[in-house]
Amino acid sequence: MELCAAERVKRGLKAYGVTPSKSLGQNFLTDDHVIEEICDGADIGEEDLVIEIGPGLGVLTARLAERAAAVVGVEIDRRMTEVLTDSFAFYENVKILNCDILKTSLAEIISREDTGGFGAVKVVGNLPYYITTPIILKVLKESGDSPSRIKSLTAMMQKEVAERIGASPSTKAYGTISLAAEYYSRVYEVTDVPRDAFIPSPNVDSRVLRMDIREKKPVELTDEEIFFTCIKAAFRQRRKTLRNCLTGLEGMDRETTERVLVSAGIDPGRRGETLDIREFAGLANKVAEVCR
Ligand code: SAM
Repeated sequence: MELCAAERVKRGLKAYGVTPSKSLGQNFLTDDHVIEEICDGADIGEEDLVIEIGPGLGVLTARLAERAAAVVGVEIDRRMTEVLTDSFAFYENVKILNCDILKTSLAEIISREDTGGFGAVKVVGNLPYYITTPIILKVLKESGDSPSRIKSLTAMMQKEVAERIGASPSTKAYGTISLAAEYYSRVYEVTDVPRDAFIPSPNVDSRVLRMDIREKKPVELTDEEIFFTCIKAAFRQRRKTLRNCLTGLEGMDRETTERVLVSAGIDPGRRGETLDIREFAGLANKVAEVCR
């Protein structure tokens, strides 16, 4: 009889004498229903190549492997990779890599694994909460690089980060990640997950989002790097005016900043948090004219 996720996690920890590492964000999923919801939400099909971030003890990996053509799990903790290597020894379609997702090129994984037989590449993970934002930004950026085969990122994260991703201008939650998410993807809520769906329980609530990578970006940019530099500068001190936030960027003395803002149709006295993606794009394209 197949064991439920909770039992698999408990037995895995006991058999290998492993205690969950807080510093690696190890909160293992124990709810089969949530695991099913993640697979459904990610729309995993039998031709997909799945890259799973942080497979841990493999409860989600097992369901992904049943549905997808192949799964590559990227796990930083060597103790987990030992458990995973044993657990998936008889799965021909599961490969486990012992490395840091932030230092791993998804493009390299895809080109190594994909010999032409896969449909889409989907990235999935119950993310380690201490690096949720850097992971999402990295996957989005790599997915946005053309040509990328990554179709979507489906991720469990702290509810608070999910709210920041979906936030609108002039709200407290609005920031760099909201704009990056909008630029690279379309965001869909999959499900909310209570704390007791994990061992050990995290001290925050969680949400699963699916981010479908856009084929066409919502704004046209002269220079993507300048776009994100402007956004980061605008949010670094969010109570300050754009006039103050942007002065000091390359080629931007106070007078130039004022002129660039006015030519982009933006009042220099506004705060960055009030700008929507179109206004940031217009501003960045004007800044690019000065920097070139
Ligand atoms: N997928 C498992 C589950 O749902 O039960 C475990 C999820 S747990 C929240 C996060 C996993 O990410 C842990 O196994 C942890 O060791 C791993 N992890 C933490 N930092 C990582 C990194 N930088 N690169 C890859 N994996 C990482």
